[in-house]
Amino acid sequence: MSNKPILVVGGGPAGLAAAHSLAAVGQKTVLVEKENRLGGAPILSGYAKLVPSGEWAKDAIGSMVTRVEKNKLITVKTGVSVSECKGKAGDFKVKFSEGRGASFSSIVMCTGFTHFDSINKPEWGFGTHEDVVTTTQVEQMISSGNGVRRPSNGDKPKRVAILLCVGSRDRQIGREWCSKICCTVSANLAMEIREELPDCHVYIYYMDIRTFGLLETKYYWKSQEEHKVKYIKARIAEVTSNGDKLIVKGEDTLVKRPITIPFDMVVHAVGMDPNVDNMLLSSIFDVDLETHGFIDRKDSYGELGATTRPGIYVAGSATGPETIDDSIAQGTAAAMSALASSNSKIAAE
Ligand SMILES: Cc1cc2nc3c(=O)[nH]c(=O)nc-3n(C[C@H](O)[C@H](O)[C@H](O)COP(=O)(O)OP(=O)(O)OC[C@H]3O[C@@H](n4cnc5c(N)ncnc54)[C@H](O)[C@@H]3O)c2cc1C
Ligand code: SF4
Repeated sequence: MSNKPILVVGGGPAGLAAAHSLAAVGQKTVLVEKENRLGGAPILSGYAKLVPSGEWAKDAIGSMVTRVEKNKLITVKTGVSVSECKGKAGDFKVKFSEGRGASFSSIVMCTGFTHFDSINKPEWGFGTHEDVVTTTQVEQMISSGNGVRRPSNGDKPKRVAILLCVGSRDRQIGREWCSKICCTVSANLAMEIREELPDCHVYIYYMDIRTFGLLETKYYWKSQEEHKVKYIKARIAEVTSNGDKLIVKGEDTLVKRPITIPFDMVVHAVGMDPNVDNMLLSSIFDVDLETHGFIDRKDSYGELGATTRPGIYVAGSATGPETIDDSIAQGTAAAMSALASSNSKIAAE
């Protein structure tokens, strides 16, 4: 085991898993998180019940946070980021934003993603019409216990449209990637809305449905068969308002006809953008980014999580859109690569 600690940057699901795995094998670890609390997007953005476990985010991710905070081998620094990273594998000299510095044998970057800002899709009404919201906002309505309500007047909506692929699979706005989880998250939210408001009709507008693997049965079919959620394969042109209702205009691409349907609320299923800080992170840590701006992985099969700089590893949605399960698995794998790198440097000394 290395006497020097290993540094984990980012306290979301990936970083929490990385820090826990390192401590579990007896390795001293420092976890830095730029926000004032740990938990990453599920906690900071107030997600409700997670897919596929069905557990509340505050419980599931909250228990990962507690496990890390209680571990004596892990030093947690919140409200802190890295401002400089010099040196090399085995002896990285790191400076923190609060002015202190320390030496680390290796580093795991778990710096996550940024939610797509729907303002960048203005024709779909976000920022113009109050009742156009995002999946994150609906998650917050549910997790706060206040229930799903129209922001404009607090009423229970009777008709809700969920628009998939907002900020994903959209070349016009430079976002070609599929965000992987939003089809499943949307089917889950649709079922939650139907459970809370049985009189509310919920429509999901889609290009393709990507409830991958076993999620097809649990979310796609269940939402239709048990919860009567309706799916419309469509290309959406615009979301406008007639003063009372929101009007979703587009083309039904199965029957190739224009469709115009009124709703009380429209929900953007927002995708996962690269972390807005990635250019800065790339320069501080001297690691390459891939074409879309996520942190590049050097090796997918050998040294798991390796970046382009030896001794620095990456995991989770920092590398591209990832689910929580995969972020956790990658966090653990990258932690073990970081440990192996540290140990090989000790053996060489
Ligand atoms: C609306 C929505 C709902 C979702 N629901 C689910 C779901 O139900 N189930 C599921 O599997 N997935 C879900 N996801 C995906 C899920 O959010 C990600 O899989 C998960 O958050 C990835 O974890 P992470 O640790 O890689 O990144 P993040 O959760 O983004 O955590 C990264 C952490 O790093 C910190 N950080 C960033 N930069 C720095 C820096 N420079 N220095 C220090 N700290 C830094 C951030 O503040 C953050 O705490 C959802 C995504 C969206 C958009
Ligand atoms: S998971 Fe579904 S909603 Fe999300 S980008 Fe992929 S196809 Fe679109």
